[in-house]
Amino acid sequence: MTTANALASYAASEHNSRGRAIAEPAPKYRGEYQRDRDRIIHSTAFRRLLYKTQVFVNYEGDMYRTRLTHSLEVAQIARTIARALQLNEDLVEAISLAHDLGHTPFGHAGQHALNECMRDFGGFEHNLQTLRVVDKLEERYALFTGLNLCFETREGLLKHCSLANARRLGDLGRRFIERTQPGLEAQLANIADEIAYNNHDVDDGLRSGLIALDQLAEIPFFAEKLQFVKDQYGDLEETLLCREVVREMIDTLVTDLLNSSRSAITLHAPETIDDVRHADVPLIRFSDPLAASQLELKRFLREHLYAHPRVSLMTEQAHATIKLLFDTFTNDFSTMPENHAERARAAAVNDEAAAARIVADYIAGMTDRFALELGERFR
Ligand code: MG
Repeated sequence: MTTANALASYAASEHNSRGRAIAEPAPKYRGEYQRDRDRIIHSTAFRRLLYKTQVFVNYEGDMYRTRLTHSLEVAQIARTIARALQLNEDLVEAISLAHDLGHTPFGHAGQHALNECMRDFGGFEHNLQTLRVVDKLEERYALFTGLNLCFETREGLLKHCSLANARRLGDLGRRFIERTQPGLEAQLANIADEIAYNNHDVDDGLRSGLIALDQLAEIPFFAEKLQFVKDQYGDLEETLLCREVVREMIDTLVTDLLNSSRSAITLHAPETIDDVRHADVPLIRFSDPLAASQLELKRFLREHLYAHPRVSLMTEQAHATIKLLFDTFTNDFSTMPENHAERARAAAVNDEAAAARIVADYIAGMTDRFALELGERFR
């Protein structure tokens, strides 16, 4: 049995942490990464995840994953593996819970639309926006803007980054220029995200009726799990059958990730977190066959679920709504709440891009429902 355990020497810890941008007194009865997690949970952006979606727009029904339940699933998977590998559970939980904070309303459709609106002003990218939320946009502390999170938490949130942005981001961007790895907790949260969304999109996709069981059975990995569940339990009613198959897939992926990562860690024998950062490959990894299965699953979802006509219809509506909001706000700042309007007016005096960024921040922070309501009002 595993219990909360000693950390591996190469795990992130408060002793090897690169600290916070603004130094603070040590917490009295929590660890530093627990404090990060708690700040994330108390943030406005975190609460709004409840009304934001990835594939289905929030009004489509209460039965699908929201970004909040998705983030909880990511944290659950990542913590299980972190404990088994003696990595820092608190850090991995903080990264998992915060990893989607920068997402616009309407999932990927919203991000594409906002990126298009921002084309002449530096673009919009949800991953960078997540960092912006925790570094700048959350306003709840008298002594600093943002949440003033530890370096390792922020490192985990910045999953990818262009070279131009990396240069702008200083310390945090350096690994994209030097091509080094982030800590194992960051690597783990990133892969746990993939495991969570592939599997819950299968689950939500089946329940919505947009994809069918026999379609999915064309994927060898899924077919193998389907057969396993049938052999194990005989004739199951379809909903239960699907749930058992998804459960089996997650179990197989987690087990594989655990074993392959253990082997990679043994092979590279890191002693410190800097050894991890300088390893030539990420050490948290699937075996090759399972990595291929994951890709296959992703490809299937892209083709059959994300591009499904009913999803595309939502996508088009989402796109139109975001564009309408952006145009309305940029044409007349006073259509935004006064605090945003005032900042945008001040910025616009000598920097059009900075003003557009304030509009984008406002839109990105909206929930699906709020954006739709506002869209109706301006139509
Ligand atoms: Mg995610």
